[in-house]
Amino acid sequence: MDKIMIANLPTKIEKVHFFSKDFDKSVFIKRDDQTGMATSGNKLRKLEYLLNDAQNKKCDYLITNGGIQSNHARATAVMAAKYKMNSLLILKEDKKGKTEGNLFFNKLVGSKIKMLDEQQYQNLPSIIKDLKEELIDSGHNPYVIPMGGSNGMGALGYLDAYYEILNQEEQLGIEFDTIVVTNGSGGTYAGLFYGNKESKRNKTIIGMSVLNQREQAARDIVHILEDMNQYRDSHFRFSATEINIIDRYIGLGYGKSQMNELKFIEKFAQEEGIILDPVYTGKSMYGLYHELKNGNLQESQNILFIHTGGIFGWTDEKMNMLFDSM
Ligand SMILES: *Cc1c(COP(=O)(O)O)cnc(C)c1O
Repeated sequence: MDKIMIANLPTKIEKVHFFSKDFDKSVFIKRDDQTGMATSGNKLRKLEYLLNDAQNKKCDYLITNGGIQSNHARATAVMAAKYKMNSLLILKEDKKGKTEGNLFFNKLVGSKIKMLDEQQYQNLPSIIKDLKEELIDSGHNPYVIPMGGSNGMGALGYLDAYYEILNQEEQLGIEFDTIVVTNGSGGTYAGLFYGNKESKRNKTIIGMSVLNQREQAARDIVHILEDMNQYRDSHFRFSATEINIIDRYIGLGYGKSQMNELKFIEKFAQEEGIILDPVYTGKSMYGLYHELKNGNLQESQNILFIHTGGIFGWTDEKMNMLFDSM
């Protein structure tokens, strides 16, 4: 499979000192928050494949969906602008609905936005189908990207990331026994897991869920893994029991923050000079810290945490929660 090459790769791997004083473990961080600027984060690696496919099919309109502050929707909107395509984002409305963060950038690059309320969002597949047909009727050639860019093709971006990590291991003279990644729609985890299977490396791949419970998350990932086989001419079989998901750190639910999580992000920022986000990486780094603190992950010695981005998730509400509460 071809892809367009736009991300800043390879992304750096840095040592995280935050953990060294508390635990006898080495933790490193892979800076996929630096794949780009307006396009930053993990979604860009998936979009490199998906946009290439859209261009091969002579599509002129990208359609995708997500939450109101979806990082994936924003990366898609910016990429569409860059490649002279239109974009239509179908977003789940929230009452506050401020034009800030990711939503602001969507508007800035001229994306068309369709807001759905909670109830309408239940009928997402049929709404996407209708909007797609409308575009076709008006002479466009739309390309639909699933939520999070998480299908077999998008996940190839993280299969590549896995091999990028193997190369970096050689350069750095370190072998990571464990990779920890934040899990939402599952494409990032699936790509890493597939690479691990294909290369027979036997690393432990841990997904810190911020969205779904373990069973659901594992099912989603297996589905993406099976979809990947076609692009690798492989017939791997996958079972949900192989998928290592920790769902203890979802907290109040997707996109909802608690003070202890935000305080952790603040401490991490002050000690490391690395900014985590409140929706994804903040929760999963918090999760990794507490797993180690509770004596779990005994087998893991050299841990690589993938920083998947998300900085624009720092909305007014989150910032005020952290600093106006005194
Ligand atoms: C989307 C996203 C994730 C989760 O990736 P999936 O492939 O959807 O599981 C993690 N971190 C950030 C910052 C994201 O935007």
